[in-house]
Amino acid sequence: MAENYTTTNAGAPAPSDELSLSLGPDGPILLQDSYLIEQMAAFNRERAPERQPHAKGAGAFGRFEVTNDLSAYTKAAVFQPGATTEVFARFSSGNSGERGSADTARDNRGFSVKFYTAEGNFDIVGSDVPVFAIRDPIKFPSLIRAGGRRADNDLHDHNMVWDFWTLCPETAHLVTLVMGDRGIPKTFRHMNGFGLHAFSWINSAGEICWVKYHFKTNQGIQWLTQEEGNRLAGTDPDCCIRDLYEAIERAEYPSWSLKVQVMPFADAKTYRFNPFDVTKVWPHADYPLIDVGTLTLDRNITDHHTEVEQAGFAPSNLVPGTGLSPDKLLLGRSFAYADAHRARIGVNHNQIPVNAPRCAVRSYSKGGRMRFGNAADPVYVPNSVGGPRADPDRTAEVGWAADGEMMRAAYTPRRDDDDWGQAGTLVREVMDDAQRERLVHNIVGHVCAGVKEPVLSRVVQYWYNIDREIGKKVEDGIRANASR
Ligand code: NDP
Repeated sequence: MAENYTTTNAGAPAPSDELSLSLGPDGPILLQDSYLIEQMAAFNRERAPERQPHAKGAGAFGRFEVTNDLSAYTKAAVFQPGATTEVFARFSSGNSGERGSADTARDNRGFSVKFYTAEGNFDIVGSDVPVFAIRDPIKFPSLIRAGGRRADNDLHDHNMVWDFWTLCPETAHLVTLVMGDRGIPKTFRHMNGFGLHAFSWINSAGEICWVKYHFKTNQGIQWLTQEEGNRLAGTDPDCCIRDLYEAIERAEYPSWSLKVQVMPFADAKTYRFNPFDVTKVWPHADYPLIDVGTLTLDRNITDHHTEVEQAGFAPSNLVPGTGLSPDKLLLGRSFAYADAHRARIGVNHNQIPVNAPRCAVRSYSKGGRMRFGNAADPVYVPNSVGGPRADPDRTAEVGWAADGEMMRAAYTPRRDDDDWGQAGTLVREVMDDAQRERLVHNIVGHVCAGVKEPVLSRVVQYWYNIDREIGKKVEDGIRANASR
């Protein structure tokens, strides 16, 4: 029979699974019971600090297969015709979702994909809606805190979140999307994913274009009403995590078609609104979707903590042929995500298997907590002993010209740069009557759970600014609720 005895974490035989070391059967427990101490200490440290936003999530492994030829736009190996790349995807329950929150809370979901490419890891760190709530990263901590808990009583407070939203009109587009049907996806499989920002691509001739990533679900869009979501929050709060895991167990592998919108480099300067404003979409009529390939998730995780909790996605994980853009929120995120992982799981988080690149790493980093890959000499550069040298021709840095004085200012206004327009288009031209009715129902229910004057009047005005009819219905709905 194979040996099957318990060991300490250092591999030595454990003295007992059930009894602590004490001085006689009735005596005190002894400090030298290092096995007992290892058990208690490991238990106390079982959790990594949870993520600030998007704390609760599910993940799975799979592959991405290119089905089109986009080599005219990018030289990235991951997007070349016929390429297949291993991936890990993580979906999360929301900006203000904590690890114990219900999967059916109304919020935007996280949708992140790590591509383990031959040229290094490439991450798309996106969401199930196509826009973000704010466009300047300096507001990010406030956005998350406003949707989180109060300082005094630790309660969520709708007055607080609507106070912030109505003082920041650029939130209107995201709030309309989240208050609509798709604000509670039925499962992670039945939602789209968006890279949110404009990114750059560069081809082998050195020509740059701007792109937006769209993962379209092949399972079809499905969502829950507020009432269904509320019920499941009580009866099956982990329903989305369960659904993903069980679907893959049944070999019903979820897939998404990756498409991109491509904007020629020069268009960005003259387009009717700033295409780097992450609170806006690029209309399909101007920039149609182009097929790229298929993302399929076909392998379940085996340890949620090591693979999902410790997964670290960063928009700064780019590969040659891909790059950033002048989107200020993206530039802020390109610092913030890697820094969040350094703070939460450590400076060596890229050595954890789920984050580790599948290609050779030749960096000059050394030391730091929890490092287990050996650093090799030389540990400095330049050196005369044959250490690696950076090759600027291979790098993922895509540049663009910029000039001007240093200042704190919003993007230079353009003709169609208002905050209400695209939210209004969504309500009037994309939603049908039944969807608009449910939108009003969801808004009124949310607002009537705690929003007070003077925020209440601003909420009504906010919806009038998006659409007069919706504004009127929200106002009537709030009045009717108050007189009940
Ligand atoms: P289109 O008519 O070409 O596109 C409308 C888009 O809206 C489709 O991608 C569709 O996605 C999506 N959609 C349909 N119903 C809903 C809903 N209830 N909630 C959220 N999205 C929905 O128009 P435009 O490109 O000109 O965009 C018009 C508006 O559509 C925008 O203001 C924006 O709010 C919304 N939208 C636009 C997207 C874009 O990238 N252009 C992406 C997503 C939304 P699907 O095929 O999955 O149903």
